[in-house]
Amino acid sequence: VTERIVIVGGDAGGMAAISQIRKGRPHIEIVAFERGRWTSYSACGIPYYAGGIVDGDVDRLVARVPQAFRDRDHVDVRMGHEVMAIDLDRNEVEVVDHGRSDRSYRLGFDQILIGTGGKPFRPKITGVDLPCVRGAHTLADAEWLAASNPSHVTVVGGGPIGVEMAEAFVHRRVPVTLVERSDQVLRWTDPDMSAPVASELRRHGVDVRLGVEVTAFEEGRVCTSDGPIDTDLIVLGIGVVPESTLAGEAGVALGVQGSIVVDRRQRTDRNGVWAAGDCCQSIDRITGEPRHFALGTVANKMSRVAGINMGGGYATMPGVLGTGIVRAITLEVSRTGLTTAQAEAASFAPTSATISSRTAAGYMPESDPITVKLIAERSTGRLLGGQIHGGRGAGKRIDIVAMALQADMTAADLLDADLAYAPPFSPVWDPVAMCARELLKRL
Ligand SMILES: Cc1cc2nc3c(=O)[nH]c(=O)nc-3n(C[C@H](O)[C@H](O)[C@H](O)COP(=O)(O)OP(=O)(O)OC[C@H]3O[C@@H](n4cnc5c(N)ncnc54)[C@H](O)[C@@H]3O)c2cc1C
Repeated sequence: VTERIVIVGGDAGGMAAISQIRKGRPHIEIVAFERGRWTSYSACGIPYYAGGIVDGDVDRLVARVPQAFRDRDHVDVRMGHEVMAIDLDRNEVEVVDHGRSDRSYRLGFDQILIGTGGKPFRPKITGVDLPCVRGAHTLADAEWLAASNPSHVTVVGGGPIGVEMAEAFVHRRVPVTLVERSDQVLRWTDPDMSAPVASELRRHGVDVRLGVEVTAFEEGRVCTSDGPIDTDLIVLGIGVVPESTLAGEAGVALGVQGSIVVDRRQRTDRNGVWAAGDCCQSIDRITGEPRHFALGTVANKMSRVAGINMGGGYATMPGVLGTGIVRAITLEVSRTGLTTAQAEAASFAPTSATISSRTAAGYMPESDPITVKLIAERSTGRLLGGQIHGGRGAGKRIDIVAMALQADMTAADLLDADLAYAPPFSPVWDPVAMCARELLKRL
């Protein structure tokens, strides 16, 4: 009898495993269920599509269509099919086919990969279900937002998605108000590193309201602790929570924020049940503690690891640093590892240094400002985190810091790193190395 693997979820967490499974198990039957209309799509592209920066058909955000999985990997991809339950006593899924008047059926499996992803957090606030309140999570949202014609938009939440959605509507020349409960946007960085983001948004006309709480949504306005805002479209960007109900109801162990608990090989606590992507818990590489990261980079890696293991090989997730990057109109902002507050919460005694420099030699026309902050353990100099903001070419320098954290490097090691230089790309001391030098002085 042919063995069967079932995959639940047609995006990165589910589908990135397939080529690895196939390498190990060329003849195994693979059935993938996706309740929506797209496979392997870039949710990361939604703000750019909604903002008209990417035009044309929304399918441009799709990396691999279902037919490509069928043709290349011989996967039975079933679109518009929603898995309603996972029965781990019988090793069967219960599926509804939305395309055929909701016919339901059961299908057995030997192994299952849960890649059900995340869902935008919807606060329990009056009016949250009004049609004018939208998430920015699916390609259907992207199509809807791109086709909308608001005279004013309110973005709720100043995280990366909120900032990108504000940029989207600035690009469309629609007036935007951004409401954030805390006193800073982008809480994934220290407050001093996110302050220029709020300034940049304001400089481009966004009404950024910090320390303001939304109390109710109404047709045509948002009620806040700072008074009402007249608006005709509200975009929620308050974060992503794991879509783990299916797994939880099947008896799979859940952890941080309800995310699925997995080991290093992406195994859940139930035999033959694997999970990957935004539905899963990760291990923070610096603290060793479980955390939930909703990042496409992490989802793809987890799924690859799951696929290798499901195919009979051996692979592990090394832990996650939460390396991320976002553009706020002309300002690039990036981060990796722990913020100062996170380092303190994890009982480290951190110290930090911040320097301002240029992205290229000062005499080059493309030279833009850049600010780098590095955080290290005071007693050992071990790097714990880094944050960058600046003009074009600033943000991706965070990858140097991420590699240094991955290699458990100290500030002294980073100062010694042999980094490239030519006038169009960097000053002779790269700003990251310059910051390491400043940090060493303080250690
Ligand atoms: C606006 C936005 C911008 C982003 N920008 C970035 C970025 O710049 N960089 C970055 O690293 N990350 C970014 N992300 C995060 C990234 O998109 C996610 O981490 C990634 O999509 C996670 O993939 P996933 O497969 O785990 O989950 P999802 O993309 O949520 O996919 C899960 C899939 O499973 C399907 N599904 C769920 N339940 C069932 C079921 N019961 N039956 C059948 N199908 C089911 C869903 O329909 C969905 O298609 C962004 C996210 C958003 C929303």
